[in-house]
Amino acid sequence: LGRRISTALHDVTRAPNLDEKAFKAMLNEISHALLEADVNVRLVSKLSNSIKNQVNFKDLPPAVNKKRLIQKAVFDELVKLVDPHAEPFKPKKGKSNVIMFVGLQGAGKTTTCTKLARHYQARGFRACLVCADTFRAGAFDQLKQNAVKAKIPYYGSLTETDPAVVAREGVEKFKKERFEVIIVDTSGRHRQESALFQEMTDIQAAIKPDETIMVLDSSIGQQAESQAKAFKEAADFGAIIITKTDGHASGGGAISAVAATHTPIVFIGTGEHMLDFERFAPQQFVNKLLGMGDMAGLVEHVQSLKLDQKDTIKHIAEGIFTIRDLRDQLGNIMKMGPLSKISGMIPGMANMPGMDQMDNEESSAKLKRMIYICDSMTEKELDSDGKMFVENPTRVVRVARGSGASVREVEELLTQQRMMAGMAKKMGGNMKNMQRAQQAM
Ligand code: GDP
Ligand code: MG
Repeated sequence: LGRRISTALHDVTRAPNLDEKAFKAMLNEISHALLEADVNVRLVSKLSNSIKNQVNFKDLPPAVNKKRLIQKAVFDELVKLVDPHAEPFKPKKGKSNVIMFVGLQGAGKTTTCTKLARHYQARGFRACLVCADTFRAGAFDQLKQNAVKAKIPYYGSLTETDPAVVAREGVEKFKKERFEVIIVDTSGRHRQESALFQEMTDIQAAIKPDETIMVLDSSIGQQAESQAKAFKEAADFGAIIITKTDGHASGGGAISAVAATHTPIVFIGTGEHMLDFERFAPQQFVNKLLGMGDMAGLVEHVQSLKLDQKDTIKHIAEGIFTIRDLRDQLGNIMKMGPLSKISGMIPGMANMPGMDQMDNEESSAKLKRMIYICDSMTEKELDSDGKMFVENPTRVVRVARGSGASVREVEELLTQQRMMAGMAKKMGGNMKNMQRAQQAM
């Protein structure tokens, strides 16, 4: 989507005279891109009309930057769509806040309720989890494992089959123990069906939640609207969490869900790990959708990684690049996370051909193997310039065996290090010359 919309905007700037015809063609192109990204048909035509009304072409003075104007109009309209201007629920300290999760099976409820509990726990709330999914075998076990990992108290039953009963028991127990955030995980079904909706209303009647949150998988596309509507009617949720935003889905479904239910998105899931969880920010979300990048997010992300750079930078200045330097850099790349996630944050990156075909799993598996290779070396080998491997090939064989890599892969890594070392030598030499020149002045 991002690429298509930025291409449309780009073409407009290239057109020597931006006339009304070119503007209409561009709006058409943007509308198609939005439809492809699973934004609902009616929404798209509403959006297109409202941009047409905002940008009154005939009355524009010639000096106005038309591209900027249109870009801003598209941006503002999309932000308006995902920002319902309704205040989401906030738990209060010193009180029992009961939050119930609803959504289809596989949407990410169980994963996300642990993320949310951890989020509140990290902000000083006493948080806990209740498993009211008695439908799916193994549901309680999954919640238990997540809860234990995050050190969050939990409740569930292996014998009780009525989810409303388990939910009530769990909530009562934790209320007595003065927990402040009590999150109730419920079951889903593969499809919307009356049994599921009945179960949701039974649980709601049993625990009277302060907030119900719908969990929506971002990859469900055009179904998002009808699904969100049906759940809204049955369970009147007050907030939405969108999961799997790290995947290939373009997020148009999320826009449709908000527009259909006038309900705010509060958080987004950005991966399977417990910490892959962010507060929803409408402007940032639309920026990514439009391929306009999110530099603020990127800088924050990189700063939060605490990369090991000092030694390597010092080394390069001295014209050195050891195997350990290579290993640190590989580690830094791993810390950055999936490339698709990073590229969405860099303006223009989403437009680069081939970017979306990049196979994250393959490249991260390769990175991992390279790190294993380094980790099978001795301290002396790591701090070396790699020559000892050339002098003694049995070292290569030993490292290959120790890391489960092939001899060829070890050799490839050594070649890469040699190339980097060659570059460092040149750069370091230049830096020294520069310093000398400066001192002479
Ligand atoms: P539930 O049936 O609604 O409880 O869904 P689960 O919590 O069991 O999640 C279903 C699958 O989606 C699991 O494999 C999760 O690891 C995965 N999942 C959940 N949230 C995310 C997310 O934000 N990103 C990714 N990549 N996977 C997720
Ligand atoms: Mg579940």
